[in-house]
Amino acid sequence: MASRSTIMDNNSFRAEHAAALDPQTRRLTERRDEVLGGSYRLFYRRPVHLVRGQGQYLWDADGQKYLDMYNNVASIGHAHPAVAEAVNAQMLRLNTHTRYLHERILDYTDELLATLPEYVDPTDFKAMYMCTGSEANDLALRVAKAHTGGTGLIATTEAYHGNSELSSSVSPALGSGQPIGDHVWLLLAPDGYRTGVDDIGPWFASEIRAAIADMESNGVKFAGFIADSIFSSDGVLPGNYLREAIDAVHAAGGVFIADEVQPGFGRTGEHFWGFAAHGVIPDMITTGKPMGNGIPVSGLFARSEVLASFSDTVPYFNTFGGNPVSMAAAQAVLDVIRNEGLQEHAKVLGAAALERFTQLGETHKAVGDVRGAGLFIGFELVKDRSTKEPDRELALNLLEELRHRGVLTSVAGPHGNVLKLRPPLPFTHIDIDWACEALDSSLRALN
Ligand code: PMP
Repeated sequence: MASRSTIMDNNSFRAEHAAALDPQTRRLTERRDEVLGGSYRLFYRRPVHLVRGQGQYLWDADGQKYLDMYNNVASIGHAHPAVAEAVNAQMLRLNTHTRYLHERILDYTDELLATLPEYVDPTDFKAMYMCTGSEANDLALRVAKAHTGGTGLIATTEAYHGNSELSSSVSPALGSGQPIGDHVWLLLAPDGYRTGVDDIGPWFASEIRAAIADMESNGVKFAGFIADSIFSSDGVLPGNYLREAIDAVHAAGGVFIADEVQPGFGRTGEHFWGFAAHGVIPDMITTGKPMGNGIPVSGLFARSEVLASFSDTVPYFNTFGGNPVSMAAAQAVLDVIRNEGLQEHAKVLGAAALERFTQLGETHKAVGDVRGAGLFIGFELVKDRSTKEPDRELALNLLEELRHRGVLTSVAGPHGNVLKLRPPLPFTHIDIDWACEALDSSLRALN
């Protein structure tokens, strides 16, 4: 089993930075400290106080404009009027729960499942709705256990799947203070760059097989493997390499939960769903973040056969999940993705951005690797290209420099040295220029 790391436990703001803050930011930061519990973290040594957003741009309290290179929640753009209007209209009409009949949840489900790749039969899936990705994964894990009768789970060493008791038990990205489940086996993510393995698919499949064997030799029955198929918190690892691993999961009687909270809803360009890049059929698909563009709505889409042992015996109810207002938001998001051609846009702009960031990387020796799928790009910083020694300090300093140049983003990966470049989908060529200039001058400033 691989060791644990602590990237999400990274508080950029520290008390010693307070003296350098302007009085208003300092007051807000201190108040936050007094009012909210200690678990809350802040981005940036000089925290950003945002007051407005539109499209891919954000504005702070001083009127400074930022390019949002981080936000996959406001995936179709901040303050999108289609979502605001759909929510407003439904809110003024009716908002109840799923124990009354309503068409919206059914129409939406039909339309969403129609976006599944051609090789997947949408009629084979049943939908359940909730409010957060954590809840979706929590339910998926319960279903996995009910279906298989097992308790053993596999996740990756830098995975994040949520903050509930169960979903946090497969979320080592929360840091060493977060207990990982007794029956959870953690594997290094299939990172071709860092492991130096050329054919990462067979390598990862053999890691999966070994973990299952180890689990079973410890008397733990295997239930399933949960992964975000672009492995965003593990450092953004696009590709087509999971098929053999998923075959191994199925051969051992386990289920594959595709956590689509990050790659779903067209962001990866080529595909609407992240798992489609791998040509695999998940047993369960979980969604969240971009699904409602900021309105809390999430989903679990499970193969009927897998869901049955749970749904035949346990009732499901979620006060807010799937209500007409959240479904109105989700429907508006889906309509906008289609009407504005955002998946195709993510593909075209993502390819252009990847090319520009790659060219830029070639001119800075601290850039070890640039990789991406659509508008989901990882920009990895190293001390030395030949040893690939990660440069976390540079990555954290780079975040601050980028912020001074109006570009907001954050880091990922077990070493915290990979910039996660993941803007709202309406991103343009002008924004690529902005991001490239900011990256270039920031890297020069830190040289
Ligand atoms: N899965 C993944 C891959 C995520 O990135 C997140 C949130 N960062 C979650 C699950 C949890 O979603 P939520 O915060 O909506 O509970």
